[in-house]
Amino acid sequence: MSSAAIQRAESLIVSIPDHPQPGVTFRDVMPLIADAGALRAVVEEMLRPFAGQYDVIAGVEARGFVLGGVAAGLAGKGMLPIRKEGKLPRPAGREEYALEYGTAAVEIQADVPAGTRILLIDDVLATGGTLAASVALTRSLGLEPVGITTLMELDALGGRSKLGDIPVHTVFHE
Ligand code: AMP
Repeated sequence: MSSAAIQRAESLIVSIPDHPQPGVTFRDVMPLIADAGALRAVVEEMLRPFAGQYDVIAGVEARGFVLGGVAAGLAGKGMLPIRKEGKLPRPAGREEYALEYGTAAVEIQADVPAGTRILLIDDVLATGGTLAASVALTRSLGLEPVGITTLMELDALGGRSKLGDIPVHTVFHE
C-alpha cells in the first residue's frame, strides 16, 4: 500500500453540505468504495495495526458492511453484522444509544462463540454513539472487542472519548 494510493483515496471522499439535514456535512465515501485501488489501499490500512489480534470482523450497518466484507476477505476472517434494530431474524443482543432526538438501537446474532476476538469496523466515527453501543453489544454476548477501525473520524465531535480504552484506528481525520 502506497501513501500515494491513500492520498488518492482521500481525494475521492465527497463532502455534501446540509445532508441529511441542515447543518450536517455528510462524508460520502461511495466514490472511494467504487474505486478498486483506493478501496484496497484504505482497507489494508484500516487492518494494519490489528494484525494477529482478532478472529472476526464486525461491520456496522450499512457502510461498515461493505468495508467489513472487503476487510474480512482480505484478512481471511468471517464477518459479523451489527444491524439497526428489527432487521435480524435471530437477534441475541440489543443495545440502545442516544440520538440528538430520541434513541436508536443496534442488534447482533450469537453466530460466533463467546470469547471470540472482534475487530469493529465502520466508515465514519462522528459522535461515537453507534460504535460505543456496538462495543457494549459485543461484550453483552461475551465476545471480546479488541479494537475499532474507521475510515474517517470527525475530530471536532469528540466521539473517541465515548469509546473507553479500546484501541481506535482511523485512516483520515477531519
Ligand atoms: P455516530 O454514532 O455519531 O458516531 O455516527 C456514526 C454513524 O453515522 C456511522 O455509521 C456513519 O456512517 C454515520 N455518520 C455520522 N455522521 C456522518 C457524516 N457526517 N457523514 C457520513 N456518515 C456519518
